[in-house]
Amino acid sequence: MKKTIPKRPRVILHMDGDAFFVGVEIAKNPKLLGLPVVTGEERGIVTALSYEAKAMGITRGFPIFKLKKEFPKVLILPGDYKSYEEYSTKMFDIVRRYADEVEEYSIDECFAELTGLDKPLKMSYREIAERIKLEINNELKLSISIGLGPTKCLSKVASKWEKPDGLTVIEIPSIKDFLSKTPIEKIWGIGRRTSEFLKLWKINTAGEFADKSLPWIKGNLSKPYQVIWYELNGVSILKVDPERKTTYSSVQKTRTFYPPTNDSVFLLSQISKHLEEACRKVRHYNLVPKKISFFLKSQEFRYYSFEVVLEAPTNTPEGLIVLARKYFNNIYRKNTFYRATGVSLYELVPEEVKQGDLFGGMITTNKFETIHKQIDSLEKKFGKRVIHLASSHNAKKIKTKGSDSEDLNRDLLFL
Ligand SMILES: [Mg+2]
Repeated sequence: MKKTIPKRPRVILHMDGDAFFVGVEIAKNPKLLGLPVVTGEERGIVTALSYEAKAMGITRGFPIFKLKKEFPKVLILPGDYKSYEEYSTKMFDIVRRYADEVEEYSIDECFAELTGLDKPLKMSYREIAERIKLEINNELKLSISIGLGPTKCLSKVASKWEKPDGLTVIEIPSIKDFLSKTPIEKIWGIGRRTSEFLKLWKINTAGEFADKSLPWIKGNLSKPYQVIWYELNGVSILKVDPERKTTYSSVQKTRTFYPPTNDSVFLLSQISKHLEEACRKVRHYNLVPKKISFFLKSQEFRYYSFEVVLEAPTNTPEGLIVLARKYFNNIYRKNTFYRATGVSLYELVPEEVKQGDLFGGMITTNKFETIHKQIDSLEKKFGKRVIHLASSHNAKKIKTKGSDSEDLNRDLLFL
């Protein structure tokens, strides 16, 4: 049965931080304001960039070594995930001053159900959004963009419409205007392959997609895309879900020590230990990483890192330690002294996804997974870290002073 547009449409807010990681760095250190700044030094690629850096032609994923050569004026910072997490929580708390139903979608994005709140708050929906923006700007010194729309998909179109510092409202009568100017690949949930398929049917804009008939949509596309079609037509299907399970998009483990050392056995064992701990953490959440990266930080505070895309995502350290050994010499120099090591696990996906089609269904459960599950339950019983890998052993043997740190980057998975 065809769903029809309700008389009183819902109003959903979508909030999105502007260049969030860099925004937090500027909030922490206002002297950076107006300068070309990027983060991602520890990872060897740009993970976020200020609008000034963007204007120079730099993009996300740009290699740091190239950046240093081609854009010597750009300031390069290591990611500080702990602060990003703190600012994220504060930002969402401000949204919660106005709305009870807030869904934390990623570290810098949330949805909020505003429907019906105009009366008790004695403000128009736009005014509520303005207040939230102002309070985040004033209290956190962060710039954000907000979109309001009758559905989640449309509120996402709205928040992207004007960036940075935007506030865009899409109402039912103006949906067509907005969608006719939005390329289909910019729609939330429509990936590269689907947009290529749609372009074969001469569907280049979101407007052309929304104009297709329901029978055509049902005949050619699977369920999640039918949902998007409804949502773009102003029919709300996706709920704002405050209970939605939060999970992590990345996990970092680092350790700073002194005095600095060039002892490769020690450095590798540190990395091994980080991998063990990071894997324990992601197993706890039943996640697996698709990418990992390692870094060494020299006593001159320079980062040397490499990143590996895993052929077979895994949350057990054994295979990852083999990779670390294999690539270690790419970043290690005998005459350099290092003061910190770190590893990050990125693009975490649920374990179930790993087993499924997305990776070709070719992955067999490795024997280590069963062993680690057993170790995890033993540790639950007897306390943490009763068992560790032999490769991490040198990290415990060598006495150094220093501090460990752990960063979690909260993120949510779409649909
Ligand atoms: Mg953002």
